[in-house]
Amino acid sequence: MKILVTGGAGYIGSHTVRVLRLRGHEPVIFDNLTRGHREAALDAPLIVGDLLSLDDLTGALRTTGSEAVLHFAAFTYVGESVGHPDVYYRNNTAGTMNLLEAMRKHKVSKLVFSSTAAVYGDPIRTPIDESHPQSPVNPYGRSKLMVEWMLRDHQVAFGLGFAALRYFNAAGASLDGRIGEDHDPETHLIPRVLMSITGEIPEVTILGTDWETPDGTCIRDYIHVEDLAQAHVLALEHLGRGGASNAWNLGTGKGHSVKEVIQSAERVSHRKVPTVSGARRAGDPGVLVASSDKIRKDLGWKPEHADLDSIVGSAWRWIEKGGRYKNKATPEEAQTTHPIR
Ligand code: UDP
Repeated sequence: MKILVTGGAGYIGSHTVRVLRLRGHEPVIFDNLTRGHREAALDAPLIVGDLLSLDDLTGALRTTGSEAVLHFAAFTYVGESVGHPDVYYRNNTAGTMNLLEAMRKHKVSKLVFSSTAAVYGDPIRTPIDESHPQSPVNPYGRSKLMVEWMLRDHQVAFGLGFAALRYFNAAGASLDGRIGEDHDPETHLIPRVLMSITGEIPEVTILGTDWETPDGTCIRDYIHVEDLAQAHVLALEHLGRGGASNAWNLGTGKGHSVKEVIQSAERVSHRKVPTVSGARRAGDPGVLVASSDKIRKDLGWKPEHADLDSIVGSAWRWIEKGGRYKNKATPEEAQTTHPIR
């Protein structure tokens, strides 16, 4: 299939583009490069365009003749969303509204959407399955939940076929080390632990050691970015066969504590992680683990790199050799929608 991949120069999008090409699809990336990286596109075609421009979107769908859209483009920092909810609702929610409008105009009726575990809010039971109440506790989660509602309404009214994939903790880098995670600022645990080993940051702060968990630190469900990428392709092909629209969790179903991540980093790097204990981070739940039964059953997905050392090891190989893309966006490319920094 010909596919437009919004945010295809970002972390999860760039890994998915590679899998799409390996499976014989023809992805074209649509990215404004404010947070994506031209280098992450590798040799895939890239249109520099903005979700907030209906003209950019309709032009991209017209010139590419896309039959489906994979929609990754979004802002994803919870803390930033609290201070700048307007930017999150505009970019994530209104931007998706534009995309849906452009898709209708060009009769493109299949969409795979990057949703998030943040649509659930504080868990009332664990593991979290898809029927868990959706009560997000920050603007980021709400900006994504609104999109899920929009997708359901567009399905009823206009026959949209959609797959909303609710990611738990995306982590790791490509197995060949060519692409990986490069966020600025980097707030995620695994890269920060590894950056403390390389000396890029002096130490990693353990955000809370008094949780009601076996070792007192937070538990998360880390999922390898390559496994996430595979799931997108399965979801796309499901829609291509006329499969039913739905939302699916994406996690391994196994949780790991912050201390276990640190131990894993020490094993794969053979180096010591400098740590300090800090206070809990506002808004963090203690335990967040997915039930991934539904996507396993419906789409036949299964994580191939589920063990923690494989995930952390791939991230280590990426960070050890720099962990950064060199060519940043030009000022013209970066000035589009970005009033925050
Ligand atoms: N965490 C930590 N130190 C850090 C960053 C994160 O202890 O420097 C913890 C955080 O409290 C959470 C887990 O690591 O329990 C994963 O955090 P991350 O930001 O990677 O993902 P989140 O679960 O917030 O989406």
